[in-house]
Amino acid sequence: MRRIIILLFLILLIPSCEKNEVFSRTELRMDTLCTISVYTRKDEALLDQAFEIIDSASAMIDMYDSESEISRVNSMASAEPVAVSDELFSLLMKAYDVSEYTDGAFNLAIGPLVALWGIGGENARLPSEAEIAKVLPLLDWHDIILDEGGKTVFFKKEGMRIDLGGVGKGYIADLIAEMFRESGTESALINLGGNVYGLGTKSDGEPWKVGLQDPFSEHGGYFTTISCSDASVVTSGGYERHFIAEDGKVYHHLLDWKTGYPASSDIISSTIISSDSTLSDMLSTACFVLGSERAEAVVDHYGVSALFLLEDGSIERIRI
Ligand code: ADP
Ligand code: MG
Repeated sequence: MRRIIILLFLILLIPSCEKNEVFSRTELRMDTLCTISVYTRKDEALLDQAFEIIDSASAMIDMYDSESEISRVNSMASAEPVAVSDELFSLLMKAYDVSEYTDGAFNLAIGPLVALWGIGGENARLPSEAEIAKVLPLLDWHDIILDEGGKTVFFKKEGMRIDLGGVGKGYIADLIAEMFRESGTESALINLGGNVYGLGTKSDGEPWKVGLQDPFSEHGGYFTTISCSDASVVTSGGYERHFIAEDGKVYHHLLDWKTGYPASSDIISSTIISSDSTLSDMLSTACFVLGSERAEAVVDHYGVSALFLLEDGSIERIRI
């Protein structure tokens, strides 16, 4: 009898011990390190599912994969309207809306300019002014026709390209968070190359703490931390990806469709916090391009929170 009681006690104890354990996996996806941590019983299948979501969403939105759905759109949509999946269509609608509201500070039609600068590849280079002048007319998102009836995409001009690099990680973080919620997971941290989603709270009930990288630190230090619960924290900064051109100047990957050059504003690092990671991702890019004064109106319009590190070293906080 005593043995049975001890056994029962052990069985009851094991799940409660495991419950507070972090269970985490890191893999290289989308050219960046993705770490997904769940605070639950050990469940390999749950993490398998999360990484499967990254793979299946990449097959839809990765412009650098010639087989992806968005690549099919990019290669065919100037010849005829291309029918797309419901998921891609609604993401494009959302990206169009933000392009419109931010007057292209986030611009889903930025593809030809990104390609010209070689952003994202090893052959990044400073294009000539003539080359830039040639692609500027291809960057107007109004020339992307999204037909809600047939769920089709059509480009009015030959050579146009949709670029989802500034929204993809946020979109995928939302998909994983949704799957976790549906599976009853209450506590998880999704980190897709710095695009973070904190689901629920830490196992001790405290909010997640996300460190914001100090652009001036060479050792990956933080300049501040942000607490979040059921929210996403997304940062865009020119220091993240850049190259030094033949003229000796540093050029980064966040481009301004009005000039054709990397955006230069008073914001060095732009962070958006909201429960919608897709939106946060787009708005972090948009605010970086807009600069602090114009970004405030955008942040207010979408009802999100923001933290901007400005060039004079000061920090502007909105609703945090
Ligand atoms: P990261 O992905 O480096 O964290 P972002 O989310 O800000 O940073 O996205 C940057 C990517 O978005 C670029 O690599 C490019 O593909 C694309 N991009 C660059 N400028 C813009 C822009 N003004 N609007 C929309 N997308 C942009
Ligand atoms: Mg972004």
